[in-house]
Amino acid sequence: MRRKSLISTEVFDVKRLLDQVALVTGASSGIGSGVALCLAQEGAKVIVNYASSQKGADAVVAEIKEQGGDAISIQADISQEDQVLNLFAKTYEAYGTIDILINNAGLQKDQPFTEMTLEAWNKVIDVNLTGQFLCAREAAKEFIKRGVVPGRSCSAGKIICMSSVHEVIPWAGHCNYAASKGGVMLLMKSMAQELAPHKIRVNSIGPGAIKTPINKEAWDTPAAEESLLSLIPYNRVGESNDIGKAAVWLASDESEYVHGVTLFVDGGMTLYPGFATGG
Ligand code: NAD
Repeated sequence: MRRKSLISTEVFDVKRLLDQVALVTGASSGIGSGVALCLAQEGAKVIVNYASSQKGADAVVAEIKEQGGDAISIQADISQEDQVLNLFAKTYEAYGTIDILINNAGLQKDQPFTEMTLEAWNKVIDVNLTGQFLCAREAAKEFIKRGVVPGRSCSAGKIICMSSVHEVIPWAGHCNYAASKGGVMLLMKSMAQELAPHKIRVNSIGPGAIKTPINKEAWDTPAAEESLLSLIPYNRVGESNDIGKAAVWLASDESEYVHGVTLFVDGGMTLYPGFATGG
């Protein structure tokens, strides 16, 4: 006799983020746009933040609307406190509150260590680390003020930091970037510890190599892609959608008891692939 499934098949028809408001920073391209689309497909109303590419942000909003979703774009440089405050004010004007923050915006300014300018160092820390702090602080204030909304989510709010495998893998030639992501790791964990009593969940996603504009030279020729694949045991370069699906799960109540962790979505890049043949 077949055992009856413990999970109703109807569950799979339910949109997991229905009526929740999600802000995705740096969402006019790459991982951010993929995450915005995936969240919208699960019923979230999405704010597509962009720094300079209104065209890219509007295209993401248009795609979400074509699929029957709800989204708007808002310009803000997330490394600037006044612009972050304005971003949140406009979010509340449009949707009243926020339930999910995806701290995604980031950049690289690669230079050999001894030639690294203070400008390149500061720019990467300002956007990748300070920007995440500023946005998370504003989101957390709203989550604490509003609390849990019964029927919408078990949590008062969810913060997901876009980190990187380089929060744990050192990266020569990219000291500013690796330092920013190492900083994101302990920012995330410290926020998780402090905000848990308010029922706010804080986690990170650590992407491996995902095909986006940030790392185009690492995958846009067959030779570059072959070299990149030697670092990925699963033997496939990731797509923005891979990160989008992980973000949906981390933002949904399915992961309610997951708190203060980095979910590496990297095809095994953090498994020391150089040791696969014995080291
Ligand atoms: P991307 O360049 O396509 O996206 C980064 C986005 O951030 C861009 O839209 C950019 O305009 C935006 N941005 C930059 N500075 C900003 C600012 N001051 N204010 C607002 N927005 C700003 O690259 P991506 O790969 O999609 O990167 C997204 C995130 O994923 C970054 O945090 C990056 O570090 C991280 N990441 C990417 C990879 C990868 O392989 N692509 C791997 C690990 C981590």
